[in-house]
Amino acid sequence: MALPNKPKGELKAVVNPEVVEMEVDALIVGGGMAACGAAFEIKKWAPDDMKILLVDKASLERSGAVAQGLSAINTYIGGNAIEDYVKMVRNDLMGVVREDLIYDCGRHVDESVKLFEEWGLPVWKKDADGNNLDGAKPAPSLREGGEPVRTGKWQIMINGESYKCIVAEPAATALGADNILERVFIVKLLLDKNKENQIAGAAGFSTRENKVYIIKCKTALVACGGAVNIFRPRSTGEGKGRAWYPVWNAGSTYTMCAQVGATLTMMENRFTPSRFKDGYGPVGAWFLLFKAKVSNGLGEFYAGGDAAKAELEKFMPYGASAVTPTCLRNHLMLNELKEGRGPIYMATDVALNAFLDERREAGMDEKSLKKFWKHLESEAWEDFLDMSVGQAGLWAGANVEPEKIGSEIMPTEPYMLGSHSGCCGIWTSGPDEDWVPEIDNESRVHKYKWGYNRMTTVDGLFTAGDGVGASGHKFSSGSHAEGRIAAKQMVKFCRDNADFKPEPKQSAQEIADEIYAPVKRYEEFKGASTAADVNPNYCKPAGLMMRLMKATDEYGGGVATYYMTSGKLLNICLDLLRLLREDAAKMAAGDLHELLRCWENYHRIWCVETHIRHIEFRKESRYPGFYYRSDFPTCDDENWKCFVNSTFNPETEEWKCEKVECVNIVETEP
Ligand code: FAD
Repeated sequence: MALPNKPKGELKAVVNPEVVEMEVDALIVGGGMAACGAAFEIKKWAPDDMKILLVDKASLERSGAVAQGLSAINTYIGGNAIEDYVKMVRNDLMGVVREDLIYDCGRHVDESVKLFEEWGLPVWKKDADGNNLDGAKPAPSLREGGEPVRTGKWQIMINGESYKCIVAEPAATALGADNILERVFIVKLLLDKNKENQIAGAAGFSTRENKVYIIKCKTALVACGGAVNIFRPRSTGEGKGRAWYPVWNAGSTYTMCAQVGATLTMMENRFTPSRFKDGYGPVGAWFLLFKAKVSNGLGEFYAGGDAAKAELEKFMPYGASAVTPTCLRNHLMLNELKEGRGPIYMATDVALNAFLDERREAGMDEKSLKKFWKHLESEAWEDFLDMSVGQAGLWAGANVEPEKIGSEIMPTEPYMLGSHSGCCGIWTSGPDEDWVPEIDNESRVHKYKWGYNRMTTVDGLFTAGDGVGASGHKFSSGSHAEGRIAAKQMVKFCRDNADFKPEPKQSAQEIADEIYAPVKRYEEFKGASTAADVNPNYCKPAGLMMRLMKATDEYGGGVATYYMTSGKLLNICLDLLRLLREDAAKMAAGDLHELLRCWENYHRIWCVETHIRHIEFRKESRYPGFYYRSDFPTCDDENWKCFVNSTFNPETEEWKCEKVECVNIVETEP
């Protein structure tokens, strides 16, 4: 992973970059949890002469959603039944999920967590009396039967500031430094010239050197995460760019796969997390570890009240479930805000003092109470320092003492992802098992399995983590496990197609010209005006992104309208996005950073267009609290308890949206 040193300032782009052509058997695009899982696993199954390459837009050690670290692993099955995991995911995602994929993830995920621990990740454990030990104290490992500290049924606590580094190292070691390209942004996938619907490679550019990479392959895994900055963020001015979701992930997974014809599923789904206001700090530990509750501005704990119960009854059967789905919890919060009963507070003061009172009542002396308090306080801060340093900075800067005052919670702008509490993504084959439903239909768009587990509807093209649709709640551990599952199948695909010689449809020079078009445009026209950013012949990526965010925010159900949209508004949004796509062809880049921004914009526009198209197609409000359709305000199980799949035809450039049967494989009674 030898990196070219970055000189001061942005690197000037030249019109004729070096074109580097490579050929490998298996290509891994992305360097996050799923890609690291794939990189580690693939070497176990691949023959020695199989060539494998991993390409990450950033640096493997700290890229992706786990970059800052995490304080919990959200999926660890342990002694629970995998069927219960499937039921939990199904309920949280309002009934429409691929249970085969979720079950498959559930049976593999613990192995990933055990590996993490063996690679050095400190996992909190309990001692023989059931008391919590922090990660630094010796205890048997998970593989030896150690009992993790659980904050919820599925989550376990870790000391995870260095989580990503710990997971990246074995992945990098397995592949070897020469087989990893960092700071290379993959722009597009390449289809084969001779074999229909077969992947033949990918192309991208270095963000540090004037180089275009054209990489041929027999099989590719695309695991570039979900999409951020597709809706106008709540942050403004200097804070703009601050977001809950990691800045690297610009919808590349969905866009690149869709563009070569891979079927997408549930792109109408989005995640609108409620997080600590302005700092986007995590709430999981506060809800689960500290048992904190949210109150409205009047100090009422509204979520347990009669009004909330009546509201939830409008969304049966999901509103009646023992654990209210995440979107419906948002819905209750939004009702309070709309009724003027804001702001919403996480009652950190109530929660922390309840812990102290409990100990005091049990007879704990003042000295021990003080010690216990210090421990509690440091855990509260560490939760932010482990995974969202900015929130700790905000608390410190605003003199917040969490034991004295609650902190505001706010639903953020929407994001698209498939591995956290969302489920948009790509339609993939499930495992080759009897319990995976056989669907009586010729087309892969309707089937649940067609040979290779986690392969998309395009031959040789796999995905994992945020990429796989209709199966959320995998989180960091499940995404890693899914990368491992896909990697093994990629090796099988290579073996089964040993004679295949990839030959992309476009020539290397054509691809390079396309990728560097914004640079050429800039150089050609920059003399037409005195200000580099204002020019009659081109637009800069920063301005285009603002237009994108304005369109989606105002018409696509962003924060501007409390997430409300309608058929009429969605069609206006689609028209604006079509125009934006047209104008995007006129983007110009003066340096490599701007070239990156140009291509991120392309990916974002495409990706959010699929989102809007799907919301328009689904004539109901499946995820109240994440988005609403004013013209179809309820969740309509009778007509819409089905997947919505869409496919772009690269030859005709037409989209097709269709309903696809949703089959339960795990019993539906609680
Ligand atoms: P990522 O890990 O995000 O990786 C995406 C990779 O793709 C990155 O390496 C990126 O650089 C690369 N990339 C992007 N575009 C391109 C491109 N065009 N070309 C090349 N490379 C590209 N899980 C838990 O278990 N516990 C938690 O507490 C938890 N908290 C979370 C908090 C936040 C704020 C977020 C966003 C997620 C959290 N998760 C948590 C979920 C977990 O982080 C994700 O499920 C997991 O990282 C998804 O893995 P992935 O590989 O699909 O994507």
